Amino acid sequence: TTSTETLEFQAEARQLLQLVIHSIYSNKDIFLRELISNASDALDKLRLESLTAPDRAVDTSDLHITLEVDKDARTLTVRDNGIGMTRDDVVELIGTIAKSGTAGLLAKLKETQDAEAAQSLIGQFGVGFYSAFIAADKVTLRTRRAGTDQGTLWESDGEGTYTIQEAHDLPVGTSVTLHLKSADTEDGLADYLAAWKIRQIVKQYSDFIRWPIRMAAERADSTDSTDSTDDTGGADEPVLETLNSMKALWARPRSEVTEAEYSEFYQQISHDWQAPAETVHMRAEGTFEYEALLFIPSQAPFDLFSRDTKRGVQLYVKRVFIMDDCEALMPNYLRFVKGVVDAHDLSLNVSREILQHDRQINAVRRRLVKKVLGAIKAMQATRGEAYTKLWEQFGRVLKEGLLEDRDNADLLLELVSADSTHDPERTTTLREYVARMKDGQDTIYYLTGETRSVVENSPHMEAVTAKGYEVLVLTDPVDEVWVEQVPGFDGHPFQSIAKGQVDLDRSDEDNEQAKADKDQREQDYAALLPWLEARLSEHVKQVRLSTRLTTSAACLVGDAHDLTPTLEKMYRAMGQ
Ligand code: ADP
Ligand code: MG
Repeated sequence: TTSTETLEFQAEARQLLQLVIHSIYSNKDIFLRELISNASDALDKLRLESLTAPDRAVDTSDLHITLEVDKDARTLTVRDNGIGMTRDDVVELIGTIAKSGTAGLLAKLKETQDAEAAQSLIGQFGVGFYSAFIAADKVTLRTRRAGTDQGTLWESDGEGTYTIQEAHDLPVGTSVTLHLKSADTEDGLADYLAAWKIRQIVKQYSDFIRWPIRMAAERADSTDSTDSTDDTGGADEPVLETLNSMKALWARPRSEVTEAEYSEFYQQISHDWQAPAETVHMRAEGTFEYEALLFIPSQAPFDLFSRDTKRGVQLYVKRVFIMDDCEALMPNYLRFVKGVVDAHDLSLNVSREILQHDRQINAVRRRLVKKVLGAIKAMQATRGEAYTKLWEQFGRVLKEGLLEDRDNADLLLELVSADSTHDPERTTTLREYVARMKDGQDTIYYLTGETRSVVENSPHMEAVTAKGYEVLVLTDPVDEVWVEQVPGFDGHPFQSIAKGQVDLDRSDEDNEQAKADKDQREQDYAALLPWLEARLSEHVKQVRLSTRLTTSAACLVGDAHDLTPTLEKMYRAMGQ
């Protein structure tokens, strides 16, 4: 009655499989982390289901992960008694990669020659299950969904097809059995049948997993020469040891956590392989208690600006995992922040919709934002180099905050770094700019454009810099928008030198003389201007004499309220 079906991997999944196997040169051990994290997710889901749908009788009394080694069969099995999968789940989740990012990942992986970068890419896309084929030439998955009777057996050699069939008498949960390739140190493939190796990998990557990861203690390890008692004693009941500490780092006092532990924890939740640039660890007590452990990565992910990047904060309720990418806890412009928030007084049933409108959660978000921005401000004050690097990586996103988060606009403006005509070698903060402003100058001059050299060589620059004014050189597309919308910094409005009338002579003593010169010139050119205007009527609104230019003959100026050329281009590209 059990029919076996042979199905093909979706074409993209097949390619991905090959790439995953071949692009991870440096660290083959991570496959175990991926399988354990899937098992842990499955346990979280079952726990959550038991709490939110208690009518479905599921056994959550001893949720755990077991690792089983069979030296004769050369297999390593990762088993969990979590939520399990239905047959359809297996086909959808394991057989295909119905994830929108797959094509993008393939393209990126083909581009990159760097094994570490490839590894991080793979982590970010969460193609974790496929990493099993790093160590195995055949993978067998057995699973039964909690609350159902039907089990499913899935098997593949990773070469393009897999088989799927019904399986009977399976316990609830999932087991993934790896038929291991032979150890090959040259290939970086360790002996994954060795207990010490498995212990070491679990300790390194999965120590904070909140479910026990158990493994049978090896006889040779514990009882060396007691062969006779083994057979008579509890031979059916192997002694299990728990390999991970299960310590929720965020729940421990800061003073008891080392940098190395923070770093490892960060790497575990972010799939990053570098240490974080900054760590924020806090506990709030009072009416709404929570712990937060947040990290600013050292490097921006490649998909920071793609439409469906996820936000990096996970929500827990009293150590129960509730959701990833909790958008209610972090504004969009801080989407690069990773970490964990464990709230004590929320319902486990809480949904994204409820969170969005929850007053307490909004208060938590405001507090976390202040903490993160405060940490960046502190970096700026005390760790200049680290701050500069951070701004290079995340400045563009942080500037989105100037539009999104009016409450923190002042703080964000303090953080802004920009190129400037003052010193082409380094960026300036607005505070530094204001300190250098000339007597009588009250606006902050800027010019936007696509690149620095375009801006610096713009004819608009001439008169302004010739008079000794400093001009900010703004080249991010978002710059165009925020400088228009932010009222000013420290009481000084922003003014584009390419728009409207730039009144540079306000402070000049010899205004009288300048005015006389201007009148004279206007008389001289009285005939030319209307003639030019008529000839150019299709292209310009008005032709007027300028005091802006020193060496160029003419330049185009936008109306005070016109779109700048870059913005115009942006809107056109967006089809508007
Ligand atoms: P990700 O974990 O990032 O979603 P994976 O490739 O690791 O990607 O896993 C794909 C999906 O397969 C998971 O999201 C989950 O739905 C399902 N899955 C994998 N392993 C298990 C497991 N042990 N128990 C239940 N579901 C699993
Ligand atoms: Mg996974």
